Amino acid sequence: MTDADADPEFVFELRVCRWVERNWPPETAGRSSPEGDDRPAIVARQLGTRRRRWDTIVLEVDPEGLRQRANFGPKRLDSDLLDVIPHAPADWTWYRDALADPGYPWRYVREAIHRAADRDILDVRKQGNRLQIRRKWAYPDWVERVVAVENKPDLDASAARALRPQLEYDVALALADEVWVATRATGETVEPALLERVPVEVGILALDEDRTASVEWFPRVLDADRSGTRILDRPTGGKYDASAATFEYADPEWKAKKRLEIAERAYETGWRSYAETMRSDCRHFELAREGRTLLPWCGAKECHQTGAACSGSCPEFSPEPPQWRTKGWPIEGGPGKGIQKILETRRERNRPG
Ligand code: SF4
Repeated sequence: MTDADADPEFVFELRVCRWVERNWPPETAGRSSPEGDDRPAIVARQLGTRRRRWDTIVLEVDPEGLRQRANFGPKRLDSDLLDVIPHAPADWTWYRDALADPGYPWRYVREAIHRAADRDILDVRKQGNRLQIRRKWAYPDWVERVVAVENKPDLDASAARALRPQLEYDVALALADEVWVATRATGETVEPALLERVPVEVGILALDEDRTASVEWFPRVLDADRSGTRILDRPTGGKYDASAATFEYADPEWKAKKRLEIAERAYETGWRSYAETMRSDCRHFELAREGRTLLPWCGAKECHQTGAACSGSCPEFSPEPPQWRTKGWPIEGGPGKGIQKILETRRERNRPG
C-alpha cells in the first residue's frame, strides 16, 4: 500500500509542517534555509475556530516576545486565562478594578484567577474579602502574523472547486494574515484554469518529493486587524435558487482574541502531537524516518496509518506486552511512551526561543 492509498492528506500534512518549520517564509523556497532562521515560526496542525479548522498553522513570532512568553510555561493560556493574564496590573488591585467586564459571570473570572495562581503565573491574595491580583510578568505581544495553510496534495480541478468555498470563507473573514494552499508538485506548470478556481488572494505552494517547494502563486496579505465577514450560507445557484448569501460581521476584538487563542494552542501542541491521539502503545506503531521527518508507520499494515485508523477499534491493534515495559527501556513506560517522548523532545527543540 502506498502513502496515497493510506491517507495522502495526513502524511502530506506532516511533510508540509516539517518543510514550513525549516523553510518559512517561502521566499526561501527551493533553497535550503539554515536551522534557526532569524524569522522564527511555530507550526501546528488542525486548529481554528468552531466553524473552520485549518490543516497547518504558521505563527510568525517576535523572538523577544516569544522568549517572554516562555515565562508562562509550555501550556496554553485558554480563553478565560487570556481575559486575565494580559490585563493583570503591575500593582496589587482588586480584580474587578483591573479587568474589563468579561461579558460572562465574574465567578468564571475568579476560577481563572485561581487556576493562574495554581500555575504560578499570577500573584493572588485576599485583602479582607477582596481578591487582589498582580502580574508576575507582562504578557508579551509575541505573535506577529498568523498564516493558514490548506493541504491538498492532489489539487485537481474538482478538488479546487470543492475547496473554493472554504478559501472564500477564510479570505472574507481574514482571521489569518495570509491563506495558502499547499499541493504536491506535479512537474507541470499549474494550469491557469486551476488557478482560477482558487481565489486570487490565496497563495499556492507546490512541494516536491525531494522536500523542496516552490511558490506557484503568492497570496495577498489580508487585513486581519479590521472587521471580517463570516459567510454563513450561500445560494446553491441552481435554477430555482435566487436567494442571497447570508453573512455576519466579525469585529476586530473577536478576531484579535481568537488569533491569540489559536496561537496559544499552537504554542502548546506544535505539530508533532499526533502520537498523542494515535495508539503509540500498539506493538505495531513505529516512526519511519524520511529525511529529518519522523512519520507514523504501521508495521502490521505496512503503511503510514491515519489518526482515525490508528485507534483502539483498529482490528490489528495489539497492545505492547507488559514485559516490554520492564526490559530496560530508557524511558519509563515502554516503546510507546518512548515514541511520544521522542516527539515531545523534538517539539521542545524546535520551539523557537
Ligand atoms: S493500532 Fe492499528 S493502525 Fe495503529 S499501529 Fe496498531 S495495527 Fe497499526
